[in-house]
Amino acid sequence: MTTPQNSDLNPDQFGLDTLGVRAGTLRSEFMEHSEALYLTSSFCFDNSAEAAHRFANAEEGFVYSRFTNPTVAMFQSRLAALEGGEACMAVASGMSAIMSLVMATLQAGDHIVSSQSIFGSTIQMFSGIFGRFGIETTYVDPTKPEAWRAAVKPNTKLFFLETPSNPLTEVSDIRAISAVAKEAGALLAVDNCFCTPILQRPLEHGADIVIHSATKHLDGQGRVLGGAIVGSRELIMGKVFPFVRQAGPTLSAFNAWVILKGMETLAIRMERHSASALTLATWLESHPNVERVYHPALPSHPQHAIAMRQQSGGGAIVSFVVRGASPEAQRANAWRVIDSTKVCSITGNLGDTRTTITHPSTTTHGRMTAEAKAVAGISEGLIRLAVGLESVADLQADLARGLDSCEI
Ligand SMILES: *Cc1c(COP(=O)(O)O)cnc(C)c1O
Repeated sequence: MTTPQNSDLNPDQFGLDTLGVRAGTLRSEFMEHSEALYLTSSFCFDNSAEAAHRFANAEEGFVYSRFTNPTVAMFQSRLAALEGGEACMAVASGMSAIMSLVMATLQAGDHIVSSQSIFGSTIQMFSGIFGRFGIETTYVDPTKPEAWRAAVKPNTKLFFLETPSNPLTEVSDIRAISAVAKEAGALLAVDNCFCTPILQRPLEHGADIVIHSATKHLDGQGRVLGGAIVGSRELIMGKVFPFVRQAGPTLSAFNAWVILKGMETLAIRMERHSASALTLATWLESHPNVERVYHPALPSHPQHAIAMRQQSGGGAIVSFVVRGASPEAQRANAWRVIDSTKVCSITGNLGDTRTTITHPSTTTHGRMTAEAKAVAGISEGLIRLAVGLESVADLQADLARGLDSCEI
């Protein structure tokens, strides 16, 4: 039987660094120091009565790894403690976290108000998949609380927000939007993938639910997929847990174990990601061949004041627009910068120790129409950088190589 060790640390009494290393730890009779990996699909019972009680949820304990596993439980407790939430349900990916939230809380005929600046697959899922099941979604400019209010309908049940957004790092006022959600009787879910609880704790600002793609910073080393939903015990245990138990979008114990190891260094990684990103953003802003730079910690950022109130750092994402005489010239220059790098990886992932660089207009946002790109600010010169943990001087030199040789 596992015994709680640091699973009962009161999150209010410990710092985030301590919680990231210790919260949620369970130890077996062997008293292992590091978290154990429980690779088992089911758990045994002493007798029939115990089996009956466990199956009926009348007694705490592990039953079957589709819904209860000690390694996964450690990940859930640690993330709940970091986010300051009562409970957490782990799932297989960030997308399955959003799917599970919708499946657990909405039904046909309900309406979602969502930021228009969210992860592309989330839009595909809301409109493409849930649209078929009678759930309608309206998309709004996330930085305007009045736009959220105007989109509310009598059947609105969920608000969905990502802040900062990707790739333009637009920052939305969680508290203001949560006030609109409360007026509407809707739940506010915030996808906290870019900040993680180290830089931003949405529940403290009035959000009801936090969504994570643990694939990104929580693991932080680009190794596994994972996801999670954090919120009140009533919502998580009453609605999300039964859905995951029956439908099975479960996080594997192995992936939970890998992510737990990542979370031990989350606080120091996020601080370094933010510091390096700001150094690069500041340098890029002074470069003659750069038209514009987006990073929440830059004083020139349109929502800098909200960002500094709501977040304790700007995060890893820096986007910038390379100059050019025409959209075609801008694209050629952006590709030149990307193709001249030797340290950065050309890939769509983010939240990794390795810096990644992408051209949104022709990759992550390539399926948008020209008009939609123009509205969303996805120009041909735009480059997204997800700053990793390499020496910042090496990253600057890597970008300068292409930037200095642009044809303007
Ligand atoms: C990557 C990502 C997701 C999806 O996560 P997966 O783990 O890839 O399923 C959702 N939201 C945001 C903001 C992301 O960056």
